[in-house]
Amino acid sequence: MSWPGIISHYREFLPIADQTPVVTLNEGNTPLIFSCRLSGILGLDVYLKYEGLNPTGSFKDRGMTLAITKAKEAGMQTVMCASTGNTSASAAAYAARCGMECIVIIPEGNIALGKLAQAMIHGAKVIEIKGNFDVALGLVKEITAKYPVALVNSINPFRIEGQKTAAFEVCDSLGNAPEFHAIPVGNAGNITAYWKGYKEYKKTGRSKQTPVMLGFQAAKAAPIVKGKIIKDPQTIATAIKIGNPASWKMAQAARDESGGLIEAVTDQEILAAYKFLAAEGIFAEPASAASVAGLLKLHKNGYFKQQKGRVVCTLTGHGLKDPNIAIQNIGKPATVKAELKSILKTIGY
Ligand SMILES: *Cc1c(COP(=O)(O)O)cnc(C)c1O
Repeated sequence: MSWPGIISHYREFLPIADQTPVVTLNEGNTPLIFSCRLSGILGLDVYLKYEGLNPTGSFKDRGMTLAITKAKEAGMQTVMCASTGNTSASAAAYAARCGMECIVIIPEGNIALGKLAQAMIHGAKVIEIKGNFDVALGLVKEITAKYPVALVNSINPFRIEGQKTAAFEVCDSLGNAPEFHAIPVGNAGNITAYWKGYKEYKKTGRSKQTPVMLGFQAAKAAPIVKGKIIKDPQTIATAIKIGNPASWKMAQAARDESGGLIEAVTDQEILAAYKFLAAEGIFAEPASAASVAGLLKLHKNGYFKQQKGRVVCTLTGHGLKDPNIAIQNIGKPATVKAELKSILKTIGY
């Protein structure tokens, strides 16, 4: 049987009625890839949950299928979000899928090229503001409170409900929850969703344990680590460039209830992890690499000594979203004359 998308597959865990009009692009069922290199370094079995293979290239699709479905069910005709890029790409695609209008507010000049292209091609009304994500979200909250427009940012509880299915898939693949789960933290909806999913699976007997949650923010956009709002967050990992996370308290609860941590990684560490993943054949966007950077950092500090078991690391979005970052950090291809001699010389023969 072909994969029907997360709503149909995990229906019993979601707020869906028989007559709910499911809006899906068959999201979910993403691969859990064993990482030989990371496992070798950590001395634990490390798996990468490659969310870049969702229909619009990020995990946002899991939450968006449900948020748009519920907006449709409620009779809404317009949805709106603030976005660092992937939320707008996903909202635009799912709104197009069911003939709804989509409005997105983005921080000017801070959206990766691929994400902007997606929002535009799916027909969203894209509005850039001279302000950061946190400002954009404030405006969207104000507008959706006053007008008949559904808010589809992750403060919409259906987003979290949909996103928790990634934890279900991990447990279904491994036969149990892992010992550790590493994840990048921006607005903190995803760490909240995974923790909810892991707890629900344990409660219903589908898994025997819950993992220790390991969250990672970018060093200059690390409000949860610092314990205060960051007014002007900075990082190359634009998807986690957030100074005042919407799910702040719930992320702290996930950390504390699981006996985990939320720490910071520098842009340099993020870029190193980004290249490290690519060298094993896996292309994830910089924000995704924050989770791998965090694992490598914890390993360096001896965190995994004496530990056993499995580590799952969420790679939140596809590397193709942000091609400029790749090219800027790797350099250009060699250009030579169209002749055998020049090519052989360049190869080193
Ligand atoms: C949205 C996003 C994040 C951050 O997730 P939160 O739920 O906001 O913490 C990380 N990486 C990518 C690629 C994203 O699109």
